[in-house]
Amino acid sequence: MRREQFDLFKTLLERLAENSPFYKNKFSASGIRISDVKSPEDIKHLPFTTKEELRDAYPLGLQSVPDEKVVRIHSSSGTTGKPVIIPYTENDVKDWALLMARCFELAGVTPLDRVQITPGYGLWTAGIGFQAGAEKIGAMAVPMGPGNTDKQLQMMVDLKSTVFVATSSYALVLAEEVAKRGIHSRIHLKKGVIGSERWGEKMRNRIKSELGVEIYDIYGLTEIYGPGISIDCDCHSGLHYWDDYLYFEIIDPITCEPVKEGEYGELVITTLRKEGAPLLRYRTRDLTRIIPGQCPCGSPYPRHDIIIGRTDDMVKVKGVNIYPGQIDELLRDIEGASSEYQVLIQHVNGKDEMMLRVEKELDTNEAHLREKIVDQFKKKVGIHIGAEVVGIGELPRSEKKSKRILDYRYQ
Ligand code: ZN
Repeated sequence: MRREQFDLFKTLLERLAENSPFYKNKFSASGIRISDVKSPEDIKHLPFTTKEELRDAYPLGLQSVPDEKVVRIHSSSGTTGKPVIIPYTENDVKDWALLMARCFELAGVTPLDRVQITPGYGLWTAGIGFQAGAEKIGAMAVPMGPGNTDKQLQMMVDLKSTVFVATSSYALVLAEEVAKRGIHSRIHLKKGVIGSERWGEKMRNRIKSELGVEIYDIYGLTEIYGPGISIDCDCHSGLHYWDDYLYFEIIDPITCEPVKEGEYGELVITTLRKEGAPLLRYRTRDLTRIIPGQCPCGSPYPRHDIIIGRTDDMVKVKGVNIYPGQIDELLRDIEGASSEYQVLIQHVNGKDEMMLRVEKELDTNEAHLREKIVDQFKKKVGIHIGAEVVGIGELPRSEKKSKRILDYRYQ
């Protein structure tokens, strides 16, 4: 941790202890005195903040400034339980635009670009964050919002959009539609900024080749500004994050101890400058690692690896931890397997059974592919599974986060 970061961290602790009822309670409950934090080593004694606590603080329990300072709220999707409401001050909104502008800059987006934004607007943070960042660098934002593929493609052709922002599932929908309609030559896209889901190399390559774009992974979460807290550069060797705004730690999700440098674990984020709802050691549930050393691109900002999964997506089958990122990786190396898959887990006759359904590429022998998948899974993950091979386009696509693992054991 750099000196400047630690100073920001200390200031954050003072602000929390003074202005945040949420953290005042947490500090007194854990018996922590912030004056005991004298060096970066002491940070590990501070309490974590969890998603459950954020939900319990619904609606505005996280607010750490007087009402007149709050200019906006955003909310995480409430698909599981109560939503989390995050209040933003004017500075938070400005900072977020700045972080997003840095992301676009790192991806080589310029004032001459036209940025078609397909993520949602409204309570969810995605759309407006991308728009503010695009406007800040002087590009032309095309604020489409989600869905309506016909309109998306029409605008893409007529306005000659050069950059598009999408989730990986929706990027795949667009890529497939462009191929189906044979309009590749009328598309002017150069770059795709893709976020909010983990995805495999194969899916990435299909989007790249079918839309003719270079792809940049962007990461973020509503609790911490929104998307735009990190992005990969032209070297595509990890995502640079803005360590003058955010402090990242990687912990073992079971023991909560820091992992060794460069090892995978759960990402924990502290917001160093946020005002409306600052967060201390927030457990993101995202699995990644910090990449040691400097990026060949020369950027001074450190890197984390792509998100390989979520701690709550981790499923235990026959005593082995399995996460979707592993399956992406495994399929990437199997010739003839497409990037789309679905996992079904059942409990049959007292035993776990796992079935992996995979879309095959054209001209691939089904029986042979099935055999290879079963064999590789046994070798790399260590358990025996069943495999089913289906044609391209047979598995469900979605414009939102894909749910690929269907666990029927506890229903
Ligand atoms: Zn780089």
